[in-house]
Amino acid sequence: MPKAAPKHKPLPKLAPVHATPQQERYGQGRGGRPWRRLRDAILQRDGFLCRPCAAVGRVRLATQVDHIIGKARGGGDDESNLQSICDPCHRAKSQTEARGRGG
Ligand SMILES: [Zn+2]
Repeated sequence: MPKAAPKHKPLPKLAPVHATPQQERYGQGRGGRPWRRLRDAILQRDGFLCRPCAAVGRVRLATQVDHIIGKARGGGDDESNLQSICDPCHRAKSQTEARGRGG
């Protein structure tokens, strides 16, 4: 007498995973805050160009949004205190600020 084959429970059907195409991500450093949306708005406002570079006649793609007046120095998340900035400029600026020129 052949044993009854063990019954396999049918696997529950998996909900279709949202097939999101790789969306552009400008780095995710600050989760939870509406920072990303604000950031996008600033980048769009500035035409995705680095403002410090533009000031010296250079055209460079901005990859970040920078606080014109650092938060440590009382600057806010206000649009008027934010500018699009490229990586090298941002790094240079951070270094200058880190040196603490007072201010
Ligand atoms: Zn720049």
